Amino acid sequence: MPDRAECEAVVRQLWPFIDGVVSETQREFIVDHLEQCEPCNSHFDFARAFLEAVHEARPHFHVGQGLNERVMAALAGAGYRA
Ligand SMILES: [Zn+2]
Repeated sequence: MPDRAECEAVVRQLWPFIDGVVSETQREFIVDHLEQCEPCNSHFDFARAFLEAVHEARPHFHVGQGLNERVMAALAGAGYRA
């Protein structure tokens, strides 16, 4: 059974790993860990399924050109300074 610290290190890299932006060393460490750690494995399964769902849904989203400006304007209106 892998120790907790290792689980935390793996879970912390869950999203970068799924996005494929971790280094080769990190990737091997994570894959190794997932092979022997059931809780982390189900964690990653969930994240992967979630991400797939987002990718499938994405074509239906239409993020308008002005969205960023509207968000920034709303933030500025709320007193936020970039
Ligand atoms: Zn684990």
